[in-house]
Amino acid sequence: MTEPEFQGWLKHHRARFTGLSKWIAAMPEYSESEPTRQEVLRGWYYALKDCDVQTAKDASDAIHRGEEAEPRGYDRHPAAIRAIANRKRDAESHQCYSDNQQTFRCHQCQDDGWVTVWHPISMKAAQTSKLGDPGTITTIAVACTCPAGDSHATARAKRFNPSSMVPLGGYRYSAEEQDKLTEFVGQSMVWQP
Ligand SMILES: [Zn+2]
Repeated sequence: MTEPEFQGWLKHHRARFTGLSKWIAAMPEYSESEPTRQEVLRGWYYALKDCDVQTAKDASDAIHRGEEAEPRGYDRHPAAIRAIANRKRDAESHQCYSDNQQTFRCHQCQDDGWVTVWHPISMKAAQTSKLGDPGTITTIAVACTCPAGDSHATARAKRFNPSSMVPLGGYRYSAEEQDKLTEFVGQSMVWQP
């Protein structure tokens, strides 16, 4: 979150924990010996700045609703918000992809561990503008980078590498797929014929 977003979050949070406004107001604005309001709130901002603002607001709501434990003391609020927000972010990044009501952990291989990619013969043909000539349209299965692919990778299958391989979508060998391959070999710095 940006600093203005942090201010927005703080207002949201103060609306739920109303004693916090008083706690903040009690800090000196200028002081040689005591931590100032600005110093304390800057610390809060640094504790939260790599959190998403909406996720942080949701975390405030979760504590306020009693779904998450309220930390003892306002000093610990940023750490609690941060922990809840990070947990939520991690849970979302592991969410399943949904495809025709079936859910898959891995979108790339749909959990069977295999990814169909263009064969090097086709890649070479595409690079020399010969894709479509007899024998140039061919594919190969490689092991996916996800845990489902681990079991295949121990065999002779190569690992899928998105920087040097081009996976095929639903309509195999379609003109669209061939165009994607031609575009890839024209741009790829990694793949060499
Ligand atoms: Zn996979």
